[in-house]
Amino acid sequence: MTVHRSLWLHESLASETATPLLEGKARADVIIIGGGYVGLWTALRIKELEPSCDVAILERDICGGGASGRNGGFVLTWWPKFPTMAKMFGDSEALRLVRASESAVDALGDFCRENAIDAEFTQAGWLWTATSSAQMGAWEAVVRASERLGLDTFIRLSPHEVARRSGSPVHRAGVVERKAATVQPAALVRGMRNVALRRGVRIYEGTLVRGFARERPVVVTTDSGTITADRAVIAMNAWAASVQELRRSIAVISSDIVATEPIAQRLAEIGWSGGECITDSQMMVCYYRTTRSGRIVFGKGGWGIAYGAGIGPALDRDAGRAHLVEADFRRYYPMLEGVSISDDWCGPIDRTMDGLPLLGRLGGRDHILYGIGWSGNGVGPSYIGGRILASLALGRTDEWSQCALVDRTSRSFPGEPVRFVGGNVVRTAVITKERAEAADRRPPWLAVQLAKLAPSGLEDKE
Ligand SMILES: Cc1cc2nc3c(=O)[nH]c(=O)nc-3n(C[C@H](O)[C@H](O)[C@H](O)COP(=O)(O)OP(=O)(O)OC[C@H]3O[C@@H](n4cnc5c(N)ncnc54)[C@H](O)[C@@H]3O)c2cc1C
Repeated sequence: MTVHRSLWLHESLASETATPLLEGKARADVIIIGGGYVGLWTALRIKELEPSCDVAILERDICGGGASGRNGGFVLTWWPKFPTMAKMFGDSEALRLVRASESAVDALGDFCRENAIDAEFTQAGWLWTATSSAQMGAWEAVVRASERLGLDTFIRLSPHEVARRSGSPVHRAGVVERKAATVQPAALVRGMRNVALRRGVRIYEGTLVRGFARERPVVVTTDSGTITADRAVIAMNAWAASVQELRRSIAVISSDIVATEPIAQRLAEIGWSGGECITDSQMMVCYYRTTRSGRIVFGKGGWGIAYGAGIGPALDRDAGRAHLVEADFRRYYPMLEGVSISDDWCGPIDRTMDGLPLLGRLGGRDHILYGIGWSGNGVGPSYIGGRILASLALGRTDEWSQCALVDRTSRSFPGEPVRFVGGNVVRTAVITKERAEAADRRPPWLAVQLAKLAPSGLEDKE
């Protein structure tokens, strides 16, 4: 069966040579399971720190076949989670991590430049907006926290300016975060893969890991062979829900995207020509940006919920959910009537309860590490994930292996079938609430109460 690929991957999978399958028995110093941003940043960082380390990446599909080649390409910082981080880790560690996430945006741009990767890196900021009265001021706690620290992270915009920059008066208010960027996500991940290959990382694409022993050395079993290593890194994103120890840490939900045909002239007419990426402030967030070829890529998180670790074809593409996303696009940009949708796709999100990633030692074993739970904000932060996981894999004691994200615990999700049934009830409540709010109606009381049970989203709210 052919896999449904994102527009981004179609644009990026040009003329690369395939990597071999893992066959028979092999050995490596470090095995990484998963060839997305997290796995690749980890491999690249290990090679930077210890060039002689023998690193192998095992990827069931192609590098970027998961979320890294399908996402919206928003390169955001952790500022929207600053209040949560400050509560959990204290102000100074929270600020250190948020600052690191800002540096990650720059580092990503530098990496592309230095390695001649044309990932369309564009640093034009993030417009964090309200599209209903219920969303007004959703950013206040975060913006005020930054202002209290004397930082000019966000620029407060007049309602007129928000509508002008976004190209639609649906946007009633908002702020812009200057640091954020956009990328063509698949060009980035495929570029990273090629740099990793050049730096001596062994990559086995098309190699599905069936399981791994917990003893040291780690023996990993694939469909066609086994590979033994001193250390293993689980960088499997939502697929990590199949790992016993991680099962209850994440819930797998969908994020769905539609892309328009190229409409550069229409974008210029409506005034959305600054390259900003935009979100509204719904729990089921709408996120949208323009591309270099003049398309709008418009996505929404949270329509679909997977049962356990069941990641099937409906998490590659789902026509019904794509229609719902298109409806939001049409609602936000009614003046673009007649513009057609050329592509749609989706992918799985590894949502944690608090919206922050989980990195650490699997069941306390320092030879099996994991970095999961990016919760829909992984393009920029995965760079930090790579630094943390590389330091852990090399047994180093440094600012990364000792940061507050390592070995932290987060509230667990219930086991199945409660998670799936409960998740759908809560999701229905969120939809009911947000539909009422979009129409500036008061949502039903029960929907409001049930919606409070939803895991924390992309951003912190008052
Ligand atoms: C539609 C969508 C839109 C998004 N938009 C944004 C955005 O705009 N900004 C943002 O910051 N984040 C966004 N995200 C999230 C972001 O894409 C992820 O957080 C990020 O890509 C995570 O990287 P990763 O390496 O952990 O995951 P992945 O790229 O998914 O990599 C994990 C890899 O592991 C492989 N794998 C899994 N199981 C096995 C196995 N058993 N054996 C071998 N290989 C295995 C998978 O095939 C996959 O390639 C979005 C996600 C989706 C799905």
